Amino acid sequence: MSQINRRNFLNGALAMGALAVTRSTRAIPSLKTFPGSFNPERHFSPVKVSRDRIIREVVGLRPYRAEGFVVEAERIGNKLFIHNYGHGGAGITLSWGTASLAVDLLSEPPAIAGGHSQGTQALFPARAQRARVNHFAVLGCGVNGLSTARTLQRRFSGTVTVYAKDLPPNTTSNIAGGFWSPTSLNDPQVPSIKFTEQFRQACRISNRAFQLLAGTEYGVRWIDTFELYRNEAAIERELPGGNELYPQQEIHRDPDNYFGFPYVKQFSTMLPNNY
Ligand SMILES: Cc1cc2nc3c(=O)[nH]c(=O)nc-3n(C[C@H](O)[C@H](O)[C@H](O)COP(=O)(O)OP(=O)(O)OC[C@H]3O[C@@H](n4cnc5c(N)ncnc54)[C@H](O)[C@@H]3O)c2cc1C
Repeated sequence: MSQINRRNFLNGALAMGALAVTRSTRAIPSLKTFPGSFNPERHFSPVKVSRDRIIREVVGLRPYRAEGFVVEAERIGNKLFIHNYGHGGAGITLSWGTASLAVDLLSEPPAIAGGHSQGTQALFPARAQRARVNHFAVLGCGVNGLSTARTLQRRFSGTVTVYAKDLPPNTTSNIAGGFWSPTSLNDPQVPSIKFTEQFRQACRISNRAFQLLAGTEYGVRWIDTFELYRNEAAIERELPGGNELYPQQEIHRDPDNYFGFPYVKQFSTMLPNNY
């Protein structure tokens, strides 16, 4: 599986002269039929930019673990903890997916094989006992805490209490771009079979979940994306998470219509900026 690291991609893009641009798909069937889309004669109004128009300055960091996110179970004392953290630059993208994997760990003992196998029986009591567990605590009120809380509510008939230092809008999730793109969340040079498998599953589950939320009610929309390259080999790369997650893929070799770039990969993805 090839993964595009967003930072490496941007560095590479600058080096190779590759760029990614997006366009909302609604009511815009194709670039060539969009009136005046890349027409050199088209004039845009000047952007009103000046220091006295700044209303807020905000900085967001996207630190990630080289090994990727962590979704695993651990027993501390008589409590079962399910970890679900470390999403780097793709926490919104993967939120429903890793929430689902995390909640699976409450009922699938084999999923914790590995570092925390001690006391597996105690962690996962018999089905009858598990059914009585109906009060859950979630730490964190960003996109991952909230999607985990919602997933718990849907799967179990119990109560979920969210504990957090800060509430929205004072979370990283609140300032994210919200582009569905599972990138910048691990170092591809640090292989982990467990992460690779979880990543693939999380991408599929989350992609599907966001598809079901598309529309005005939840603010998730499909968006055409164009990656512009000078290097033909780059357009052969698999899209992050798997090509099958991105409909309407097309390759364009039409530099006159794409800012002089000879190779363009077009695909649709989502903009779940509803958080
Ligand atoms: C500029 C920017 C752009 C981004 N663009 C995208 C994008 O386009 N697509 C995408 O998928 N991702 C994007 N991301 C990444 C995404 O924002 C993060 O991966 C995601 O928000 C992480 O969510 P989270 O719920 O894990 O953490 P957070 O949103 O940071 O929430 C953490 C929660 O835990 C609480 N907490 C923390 N420490 C404690 C403590 N000690 N005790 C109690 N509570 C605590 C906090 O108060 C908060 O409620 C972007 C990030 C940035 C900064």
